Order: sequence, then C-alpha cells, then structure tokens
Amino acid sequence: MGEATVLSLHNVSKRFGELRALDEVSLNVEFGERRAIIGPNGAGKSTLFNVIAGELRPSAGKVVFQGRDITNLPTHQRAIIGIGRTFQATTLFPKLTVIENVILALQAMSRVRLQCLRHRAHYRELEEQAEKSLTEIGLVSKAHVPVGHLSYGEQRQIEVLLSIVHRPKLLLLDEPAAGLSPGDVPLVLDILRRVPRETTIILVEHDMNVVFELVDYITVLHHGKVVATGTPQEIRENDYVQEIYLGG
Ligand code: ADP
Ligand code: MG
Repeated sequence: MGEATVLSLHNVSKRFGELRALDEVSLNVEFGERRAIIGPNGAGKSTLFNVIAGELRPSAGKVVFQGRDITNLPTHQRAIIGIGRTFQATTLFPKLTVIENVILALQAMSRVRLQCLRHRAHYRELEEQAEKSLTEIGLVSKAHVPVGHLSYGEQRQIEVLLSIVHRPKLLLLDEPAAGLSPGDVPLVLDILRRVPRETTIILVEHDMNVVFELVDYITVLHHGKVVATGTPQEIRENDYVQEIYLGG
C-alpha cells in the first residue's frame, strides 16, 4: 500500500451463514481515483459497499482508510472522517430552494463534526461554501429554484451535489444512474465528472456506458471474489468477464 492509497481492503470476507457473500476480497484505491465495482446480481457488490461504509462488519479481514484500520469503526464515525454515501431522494426538501437544501446538508454535517471540531459554522460561511459548490458543479443558475420545481434528472443532480458539498475524502455511489431515463443520464454524468479530484469515488453501476465514461479502474466481483481489476479498456477485452456477463 503506497502513500497515495486512500482505501484498502485486505482479505475481507463476509459470511451469511453458509454463504460467502465476500470471499477474501483485497483491493487498493488511490486518492482521486474513480473506481467502479461491477458484477452479476448476487456477486457481493452491495455487501462490499456496506462493509466499506461500516453498515456491516466483515467476518474476517481488514478495512484501512488513509492508513487507519477502520474495520470496527461505526458508520457515523466513518462519515466524520470523510467516508460519504449518496443521499436518498427523501432527504431533499422540495419547497426549499437548491441553495437552501445545500446549506441544510452542510449544516447537518457541521453538527455531526461539532463533536470533534468544537466550533459552529455561521450561516454566512455555509452560504458562501454552498455558492462555491454550486458554481464548481455548474448548478449556480439553479440556486434559487425550489427543488420541487426541478425535473427528475435535475433532482438527481442535486442529490449527488448534497453528497459532496462537505467534501468527503471518499464517496460511495450506489447506482447513480438507476431509474434515470436515457435522456437524464448525461445530467448526472456531467455532475459526477465535475466532482473535484480531492474526493475519491467508488461506484456500483449497471449502466456500462456510465462506467466506461467515468472511471479509471474497474473491479469485477463474481461469487464474492475479485475476478478482475483493470482499466475500462482491459475489462472490456477480458474474455472471462465477457463470459460471466454472457452467462457462459
Ligand atoms: P449484489 O449487490 O452484487 O447483487 P449482494 O451483496 O447484495 O450482491 O449479495 C451477495 C450475496 O449475499 C447474495 O447471494 C445475497 O443473497 C446474499 N446476502 C446479502 N445480504 C444478505 C443478508 N443480510 N443475509 C443473508 N444473505 C445476504
Ligand atoms: Mg446490490
């Protein structure tokens, strides 16, 4: 594991009774990287996410984040040290404007961090931070539009935005393109491309166009095991991966 590694898993296994949902999974993700986890249904992708986010404890193995063993760290503490997940649609406040939603998300995170930082962020500071994020991500023109007036695709953009405004070190994205119409996929892709590289992204995604457009590396899971890791090009040309997907 090098200096540049943000997350590494060492022989992580997760058993549910007799079933090995994860079987000695090892992987390293570098700072700033965009990594996709792909694999057929039941391969262990969600289990892997839950182990990284802390919602599940592995049966064996180790999870290391920025050089620190976090295998047994509770979920809320992982959020404090910079591991974020996408917000669900239900966390958007439809009657409030985009910028008000961003400010609330920032405030929620500053309250969580208060325990360690012992300082309260002032509204004006939060507002400036919100404006900066909206500009960076290309949504500043929507700042004063009530979220409920946005299209479905635009609301999904806001969800991604809310998950990155507090600048997590690592963002876990569970199927960011799921449920989007083909016309809306580019909206979410555009936001994801604009996420600053200070945030590393790991995503699970079925839409291979999204995967190939966005990521630097792909890890392929099958029956709880890592069966391939490589660039999109390498994975595309991997016969074994083709076989898994074609059910051969
Ligand atoms: P994926 O997200 O790749 O479709 P999952 O990680 O959801 O796969 O599941 C991997 C395997 O573990 C599946 O066989 C699934 O049925 C099983 N599994 C997942 N969660 C549980 C659980 N809480 N209890 C028992 N089995 C589970
Ligand atoms: Mg899943």
